[in-house]
Amino acid sequence: MEIIGHTRQLNLLRGFLKNNLFFSSYLFRGSEEIGKKTIALEFAKGLLCENKTFGGCSSLHQIPNERASFCLSCFDSAKRDFLMIDENFLPNQVIESDDEKAYGIDTSRAIIKFLSTAPSVSQRKVVLIDEAHLLTQEAQNSLLKIIEEPPANAVIILITDKPSYLYETILSRTLQIHFSLVSQQTIIHWLEKLVPRSPKSEVEEISRLSLGRPGQAFKFSQDKKLLMQFKKTVLQLLHFESKTIGQRQVLLKDFLETSSDLRVDMAVWQTILRDELLFSFNLADLPLILSKKRSMASGDLVKILKRLLTFSETAENFPATADACFKQVALSIPSC
Ligand SMILES: [Zn+2]
Repeated sequence: MEIIGHTRQLNLLRGFLKNNLFFSSYLFRGSEEIGKKTIALEFAKGLLCENKTFGGCSSLHQIPNERASFCLSCFDSAKRDFLMIDENFLPNQVIESDDEKAYGIDTSRAIIKFLSTAPSVSQRKVVLIDEAHLLTQEAQNSLLKIIEEPPANAVIILITDKPSYLYETILSRTLQIHFSLVSQQTIIHWLEKLVPRSPKSEVEEISRLSLGRPGQAFKFSQDKKLLMQFKKTVLQLLHFESKTIGQRQVLLKDFLETSSDLRVDMAVWQTILRDELLFSFNLADLPLILSKKRSMASGDLVKILKRLLTFSETAENFPATADACFKQVALSIPSC
C-alpha cells in the first residue's frame, strides 16, 4: 500500500540508509492503522538492498519500459534474509491465552535461530515483529538477550501501538520512532486519487471517521458496511451523556449484543469527548471526528473523560472486564 503522511519519519529512515547508519533494533510506535507496518516493510527492504534504497531496488524502477536491474537481495524471491512475525507466521507457534492471541517462547526461539546464522544473500538479516505487544513475558525475556547482544548484521524491527506492554529493558535498547496521526487533508487528497468519482461528501466523511488513520480510511472506502457500522457507533456515543437512563439502557443493550470489541468503542468515545474539549478550547483545527462545537461545559467534559479513561484502562489491562467496564461508565456518568 502507498505510504501517505509521516514525512519527517520517512526522511529520518531514508537518511539512515543513505548515510549507512544502522541500529540493531528499532521500535515503530503509534496508533493502529496509520502505516507503521507498511513503512517498516519498505525500510526492511532498504536494509537488505545492496543499493541501500528505501523500498528496495523495485522503487527505483517505477518508470514503465525502463530496464530493471535488481540487486541480488532484492531479486531473491525466497527472501532468505528476512523473517516476518505476524498472524501468518507458523500458526502452531502463535499460542492462545486469555482469549487473546500471543507470541510465545517458540516464536522467540525461531527468531534467535534465524539470526544465529550469517546472511545468505544480503549483508544483513532482518526480523520484523508486527504487533510486538503480543510477545508473552517469557518470549520477551528470551528475546531480550538477543536485543542486548545482537549478532553482527542482525536487525530487529518491533512494531506496536501498545508499547507499555513491552519490558522497559526492551524499550530502552531500541531506537524508538514515533508515528502520529495523518492529517484529514492528506487523507482526503489520497482518497480522491484512490477512489476517483466518489462524491466529495463521502470522501470527507470517510476521512473524518478514519480518525487520522489511512489504513482505516482504506478499509472504509472498500467496505461500506464497515463504514456504516462505525458511523452508527459514533452517532450512538455522541450526546450519550445527555440521554436519560432509560435511553442509555437501550443503547447499552445494543452495544453489548452487537459490538465486536467494546474496548474499541470506548476508544472512539474518548475521541469524541476529546474533540469536544478541543472545541471548547477553541482549537477547531484539531478535532478528528466532530465537525462542530456542542454546548457542553469543559468542566463536565473533563469529569466524564476522566471516568471513561479509568474504565478504558481497566478494560485494556483485563480484557475480560470490558463488558462490565463499559456498562459501568455508560450508566454512571452524570447527565449533562
Ligand atoms: Zn536492491
